[in-house]
Amino acid sequence: MDDFSTGRMDNLWHLLRYETFSFIRHDVISSLDLPVDEIYNLACPASPPHYQADPIRTMKTCVFGALNLLELATYHQARIFQASTSEIYGDPHVHPQPENYWGNVNSFGPRSCYDEGKRSAETLFRDFHARHGVDIRIARIFNTYGPRMRPDDGRVVSNFIVQALKGEDITVYGDGSQTRSFCYVADLIEGFIRLMADQTTIHTPVNLGNPAEFTVRDLAEQVIAITASKSKIIHKALPIDDPRQRRPDITVAKRELGWEPSIALTDGLKSTIAYFERQLVRASSELFE
Ligand code: UDP
Repeated sequence: MDDFSTGRMDNLWHLLRYETFSFIRHDVISSLDLPVDEIYNLACPASPPHYQADPIRTMKTCVFGALNLLELATYHQARIFQASTSEIYGDPHVHPQPENYWGNVNSFGPRSCYDEGKRSAETLFRDFHARHGVDIRIARIFNTYGPRMRPDDGRVVSNFIVQALKGEDITVYGDGSQTRSFCYVADLIEGFIRLMADQTTIHTPVNLGNPAEFTVRDLAEQVIAITASKSKIIHKALPIDDPRQRRPDITVAKRELGWEPSIALTDGLKSTIAYFERQLVRASSELFE
């Protein structure tokens, strides 16, 4: 299910040949009924420019979306997964961030629609579990990247790659000393599957992310080196409330799920760069058709 607010049909063609796959165009803000035994709720734009473009809708997606899907899960006694986020730690004072850290979040800023929306969703999940016995699983997802991101996604990995491939300036916000920990998408999905497995019994949030931490400047330099780009690094204003540092403590995921990421940043960047190269070649050939 997708409302295509940021998702794309292009990412689904390869699944249509499977008889077991079906697709529904729907927005989780509106309730729905479907026969389900497992729900993965990943609905919500995750890139700052996209979730800030319509902040009220972002909040509705997080809160009404969680509520509608939790009601569906209650009715059908389905197991339900919530894509929560490292943003619930805000601009953290504890580093790296363990699940029992309550965070440092601004409730009144441009990022709040997402941060507070996702925090409220966690609360709804907790309460449906406590009151109705719903089988909940919550992943707190740290920065993730990989093939099938939109070229105009706006997050740092896709921005830098697209800029490097086009020979445009690489836009580092602030001085680039802020850090993030980047997890390759395939590692993350493996974490989701383990979290949703029958033998998993944890109903509290679990951090999923790659603990290898890089500055934004490091990332820009790696992308320039791998693409052998002539792009120059330029600096732009740091967005309001941009977290200074972020790195997951994944002790819980290791213990409860036997999970840890296996794909190093350089390898993940190489496959993501190869994907964007193909996309750009396709886009330019369509231009000349
Ligand atoms: N960033 C940057 N240049 C860009 C996009 C992002 O320097 O073109 C920085 C941003 O300010 C932040 C980090 O990269 O410090 C990660 O940003 P992103 O939007 O990918 O995710 P966030 O972790 O902030 O949600």
